[in-house]
Amino acid sequence: MNSWEMMIHAKLASMAEEGLQRELRPIKDASQPILMYQGKELVNFSSNNYLGLAGHPQIIAAQQRSAEQGAGATASRLIIGHDEEMEELEEELASFHQHEAALVLANGYMANVGILSSFLGRHDAVFSDRLNHASIVDGIRLSRATHFRYRHGDLNHLEELLKKAKTRGIKRQLIVTDSVFSMDGDIAPLRDIVFLKQKYGTALLIDEAHAGGVFGKHGEGLAHELQISEQVDLHMGTFSKAYGVYGAYVLARKEWIQYLHHTCRSFIYTTALPPTVIGGIRQAIQLVKEGMNLRIDLSKKSQYFRDELVKAGFDIGGSTTQIIPVCIGDENTTLTFSRKLIERGIMSVAIRPPTVPKGTARLRFSLMANHQWENIQSALVAIKEIGKELEVI
Ligand code: PMP
Repeated sequence: MNSWEMMIHAKLASMAEEGLQRELRPIKDASQPILMYQGKELVNFSSNNYLGLAGHPQIIAAQQRSAEQGAGATASRLIIGHDEEMEELEEELASFHQHEAALVLANGYMANVGILSSFLGRHDAVFSDRLNHASIVDGIRLSRATHFRYRHGDLNHLEELLKKAKTRGIKRQLIVTDSVFSMDGDIAPLRDIVFLKQKYGTALLIDEAHAGGVFGKHGEGLAHELQISEQVDLHMGTFSKAYGVYGAYVLARKEWIQYLHHTCRSFIYTTALPPTVIGGIRQAIQLVKEGMNLRIDLSKKSQYFRDELVKAGFDIGGSTTQIIPVCIGDENTTLTFSRKLIERGIMSVAIRPPTVPKGTARLRFSLMANHQWENIQSALVAIKEIGKELEVI
């Protein structure tokens, strides 16, 4: 073995020993409420298809129509110009969310990395919730700004750090937070964060990846639901979850979006999204806007699922949304739990470090508006039985 092979082998072996090995599973119908794995039907609690739109015939038909314009965009938007559909989509997005302007980006990961590294530089400070998504952490790293990580949802800690940055004389500061946390299903105290933003004169970026389509009267997101969206300088979200398609957006004042056109490297140096994706997104937006019943269904099913788990004695952390963790702690027990669930016809992935902090391994259940009630109920029976067998409850 050469030194590369030794390093790779040792890393994989140590991850396996700690119960941190990852598996790529070949799956059919991966976004649907029932998926196929190894020839077996499983109830799917692992997809982010919260409103069930990923299989919607109108979205698929729209994608087929858009495919007539070509299979791919073939160049970056600044090089080739952009499709009229893209222009209309961005106008639609801005008016839907009542922001001045919008920019569509390839995906949420590239959006966060691009936005943060373009607005922040070496002389700036960024305040980031400790449980923010990895794409936020990577964007901050790339920016080289001074990184202040505040304890999850802890406003006292955030304020302490804001004061510290002020005494250091750092001029430009930005607070960044997920609105719904992807591994915990809890929500950020956005109103209080806005209060601190105003008190300390910072900018604010929120990531609505798991809230877009799900919260707000028409699915605009949590900031709208809490009526603080005017205070959000950069409002980012994805089309890959509740919208059931792919891609991401950022909403902001016109000049801020123009600034991104000039500086955001993950926008400038990459090929535009293909027409099929744009067509699908536009149709999905219409369905999200009209999707109040889907949001109500999702909320009822999520509430029931959470209540039943809590009654049975499980620790679901601070979840109040459609993302529901069953907190276990030990990595190997979590993995065993997930394997036993698969044997019982339920797909819920074991979430382990480095996705979550060490010692906080969990199963994560994501609910969908189109999960059948009987499937939810039978899943709960299996979860409780396995929980008792493994002495989690
Ligand atoms: N932000 C958050 C909070 C996320 O959970 C995710 C995806 N899991 C992303 C950004 C990245 O989005 P995408 O999958 O579109 O790259």
